[in-house]
Amino acid sequence: MDLIVQKFGGTSLQGEQSRRHVLRHIVRERAAGRSLVVVVSAMGRRGEPYATDSLLELVRQNGNALPAREKDLLLSCGELISAATLCSLLTAEGIPSVALSGGQAGIVTDARFGAARIVRIQTEAIRQHLKEGRVAIVAGFQGSTDRGEITTLGRGGSDTSATALGAALGASIVDIYTDVDGILTADPRWVPSARQLPVVSYEEISNMANNGAKVIHPRAVEIAMKAGVPVRVRSTFSDGEGTLVTRSETIREKGVWTDRTVTGLAHVSGVTQLAVHNDNGPSELQLRVFRAMATHGISVDFINVMPTGVHYTVSGADTDDAVRLLRELDFEPTVRRGCAKVSLIGGGMNGEPGVMAGIVEALTTAGVNILQSADSNTTIWVLIAESDLAAALQTLHSAFGLHLA
Ligand code: ADP
Ligand code: ASP
Ligand code: MG
Repeated sequence: MDLIVQKFGGTSLQGEQSRRHVLRHIVRERAAGRSLVVVVSAMGRRGEPYATDSLLELVRQNGNALPAREKDLLLSCGELISAATLCSLLTAEGIPSVALSGGQAGIVTDARFGAARIVRIQTEAIRQHLKEGRVAIVAGFQGSTDRGEITTLGRGGSDTSATALGAALGASIVDIYTDVDGILTADPRWVPSARQLPVVSYEEISNMANNGAKVIHPRAVEIAMKAGVPVRVRSTFSDGEGTLVTRSETIREKGVWTDRTVTGLAHVSGVTQLAVHNDNGPSELQLRVFRAMATHGISVDFINVMPTGVHYTVSGADTDDAVRLLRELDFEPTVRRGCAKVSLIGGGMNGEPGVMAGIVEALTTAGVNILQSADSNTTIWVLIAESDLAAALQTLHSAFGLHLA
């Protein structure tokens, strides 16, 4: 029997009205004769009672004093509440279902609390439920170690639960239901003219997700890509087909591939640029700086190494630690907080002349200063002031024609 995974995000499960939409998608797929594994996130966003951020708030009052193991125990509750609530709705509608924690669903992880990795999925229990005609509702974002400790997979991890289950069960598709119509050319909260993409390759969305597009978790894409499971990102609140994520070869074969130069934009804000100057002639500055960052677990990005010193970025949260470490090494860095990294992504930009020139022209015309830039064959990154982010995204979006159908 055709088996599919449906994943519903936080906003899709918040409130009775939204859950009616969830029900509609479940009923439709069951009526089409499909076996269903339904992965759920915690209900709602920050401020809603059972949202992940609200659970975190409970311990913030105590200065966040909670060991990682217990923090995962707390965070796992949000998804459990969603699973049981959805089970109640399905039961009321006469649809046989079972609610399972990640561990009960057979998701076994390592013991890295807060950022656990799935090591295997034991599918027997789920398969038995499906065989007996139940919808298997699985709490996303969590698993269990071999010793039975509850773990969570990192923020946004319900997407990963969904594609990992899809891969393990040989699902024909993983449908990621959310609050937008699909994958758009940019985050619609920043670019109102962002347009839905009918199809993207695993590589393109992986690249967008790794560069900050929060519409799907990068690890979820990685798992789906490895297993070759197609993914669809679509809206809970409509019947639109959403965006299909599949292999670029499949897209080409179907003849719908348009070799677009730029597919979409992504961004990360809250970035700090650090510049360390080498005033005293040749030294091992670069080595000392990056070794200090690595030893203290500070991840660095946008690295420019020059004979005169280095430029690089760290997250806003790591800034104070990074600056302290540099001062301990007797360097006085130039610190620019409040930056944003904008990424232009597209398989078609490889070898295409004039893309960088187009970016510089668009940003200069909009009065946006480029602080740093870098490129690979599928991505160009620019670092700008965060206060310029909306202007930069909107001007680049129209300069590369992304608003056009
Ligand atoms: P969920 O709770 O369903 O997992 P998320 O908030 O994690 O939802 O992801 C959906 C959000 O991702 C959208 O509301 C949108 O603002 C944001 N987003 C960022 N980049 C994109 C993009 N390129 N396409 C679509 N949505 C995007
Ligand atoms: N509820 C978790 C989070 O907010 C996981 C998820 O929604 O994917 O990060
Ligand atoms: Mg999400």
